[in-house]
Amino acid sequence: MSISEKTRKIIWIQAGGMCAICKEQVITPGTASDDPSVFGEEAHIVARSSGGPRAGGLAEELIDGHANLILLCSKDHKRVDDQPGYFSVERLRRIKADHEAWVRSVADADTDRMRLVPDPLHPQPKVLKLITRANPLWNMIKESVAFEYAMPDGLRDDDEDLTLGIQRNWAV
Ligand SMILES: [Zn+2]
Repeated sequence: MSISEKTRKIIWIQAGGMCAICKEQVITPGTASDDPSVFGEEAHIVARSSGGPRAGGLAEELIDGHANLILLCSKDHKRVDDQPGYFSVERLRRIKADHEAWVRSVADADTDRMRLVPDPLHPQPKVLKLITRANPLWNMIKESVAFEYAMPDGLRDDDEDLTLGIQRNWAV
């Protein structure tokens, strides 16, 4: 038995294309002349080779199933296989579950951000009305609890004086 094409897709998508341990995207950008380099590997949680570390306890037909595979970068795959004392079956299952939950939460957050659409109950004006007189502006802002004005950058002193003069007239 080997890992099926479908199983590989499941693993890569559920892992968000990232190593479950270091969270690095397991692909490098391509160059003008080269394809992207892929350094992601599907690592067995319960090992396939009998007698080795993390071996046994799983039916043969489940060894290559997506539930028993975790997406890792080549560095972390080697580390996991070199350090079976620390990376036990239980620990790897937890790392996989935590990583996949994290990927889902990131995807959900993205969906929330994309849901920022205009509220049909409060339609936004297509064209903003230019306010050229102080009275309409005053009527618009006088309801607010507080407001502050700011001068545009690079305004000449006499233009600033003129603007402040207009503002003083509002209070009348
Ligand atoms: Zn990694």
